[in-house]
Amino acid sequence: MIFPKVGSIATTSVISIDINSKISDAIKKMFSNDHRNILVTDGNVFRIMRVTDILNMKSRDVDMESSLKNVELSLVPIVNKERTVLHTLEYLNCEVEYICVVDDDGELYGLISHTDIVSSIDPDTLMDNFCLLDFLKLGKRAKWISKELKTAELLCDMAKKSFESVIIVEDLKPIGIFTTKDVIRVIERNEDLSKPIITYMSSPVDTIGKDCSVKEALEFLKKKHYKRVVVVDDEGKMSGVISQKELIATTYSRWALLTKEYQKELDDINTDLVNKNIKYKEMASRDQLTNLYNRHKFLKLFQSSHRTMVERENEMSLVMVDIDNFKNINDTHGHNVGDSVIVKISQLLVEKLRNIDIVCRWGGEEFVILLPAVNIDDAVMLAEKLRSSIEKLEIEDVANVTASFGVSCVQADDDIHNVVNRADIALYSAKASGRNCVEKASSRAALEESFHN
Ligand code: GH3
Ligand code: MG
Ligand code: MG
Repeated sequence: MIFPKVGSIATTSVISIDINSKISDAIKKMFSNDHRNILVTDGNVFRIMRVTDILNMKSRDVDMESSLKNVELSLVPIVNKERTVLHTLEYLNCEVEYICVVDDDGELYGLISHTDIVSSIDPDTLMDNFCLLDFLKLGKRAKWISKELKTAELLCDMAKKSFESVIIVEDLKPIGIFTTKDVIRVIERNEDLSKPIITYMSSPVDTIGKDCSVKEALEFLKKKHYKRVVVVDDEGKMSGVISQKELIATTYSRWALLTKEYQKELDDINTDLVNKNIKYKEMASRDQLTNLYNRHKFLKLFQSSHRTMVERENEMSLVMVDIDNFKNINDTHGHNVGDSVIVKISQLLVEKLRNIDIVCRWGGEEFVILLPAVNIDDAVMLAEKLRSSIEKLEIEDVANVTASFGVSCVQADDDIHNVVNRADIALYSAKASGRNCVEKASSRAALEESFHN
């Protein structure tokens, strides 16, 4: 499931006004744009002026020519346009049904309503079989009244109880609706408020049957751009009014719960795969018997170490180790003991070397060691120490395990094959001199010269 970014669903045609402007200008702007809300900007802080705020100001006789600064307005939450709708979930419970969408600089980019959030999500995910009747008890902010009620009285009531809409009924059947949008119209036009509400209501009113599902109701709202559904019974009589917000809040919280569970499952699978991947990568770079790096990994490590050596104008050395007469060990004690000798020696090498040294099982009973920042003479000394330690190593059942060493320096223009080749020649020469000894490789220049001669 893909969650859209809030920037992609935000309405960018937002009407806003600076906090230093007059209240009357804000109302004018709302009316001329046919909006029921206006954003009041105060730098990077956004407030919202709604119809209920206007009604409250009216009832308190606030001077409409005064500045918006003097009005107490609700703050609007802010979310970055790159975030997904999931990050707006927590705001669905807010009284203010809008969220400001801002860019990285905190500049206003657009606005999203709770409706936009739910519209961006597949309605199939919302409950199909939830009947509207279940929601009717939630319809707190609506009321139905007789067509004879005076407009002034109704406005007073709407301000007091924060109703967003009122349904006008005759014989309990809805004949019209009066919403906050109509309030702006009446106030802006300075209509005669002593007239009955039937004069100013909008009619007719679209209704929906109480047996409809929540999904159907939401689709109806989306199609008609309504903010509430007027629900009627089989005889067409008022059953109640449910705002879109109420529908959304309830269904969405259930939906979110489902998504969270689903998300957790996905997270678990993902973590599992990541861990497996790390393990497989490790396995692919290590030798099974000794857990030392294998030859494939060593070639890679050599390249990066060689690059660093050249960059830092450092020296580096490579040591080749081969266990002496290993065939005899195998022949005398069996292959398993041979294995354990290889393991013991590999452990000894790791123990005696630094963390930055790279030890590899080159093959069979041969090891290669790369010694970053170590010159050839120090490498020879180190190899000598290793040789001596191996000689002293006590391995059950096996006496006299020794190894021979070939040591080579690594030159800036070398590749791994040249270096290994030189170390191998030195190792061969160590074997030829009777084994259990260290031989220093000739430099490339010397080798080449002896080759030409
Ligand atoms: P030298 O002193 O000249 O190195 O003699 P060597 O016997 O050690 O040399 P050679 O290369 O002839 O023999 C190496 C033997 O190591 C041959 C092979 O059977 C054995 N070998 C290779 N890999 C393994 C392994 O994983 N485990 C065991 N136990 N033996 C192995
Ligand atoms: Mg060998
Ligand atoms: Mg050997």
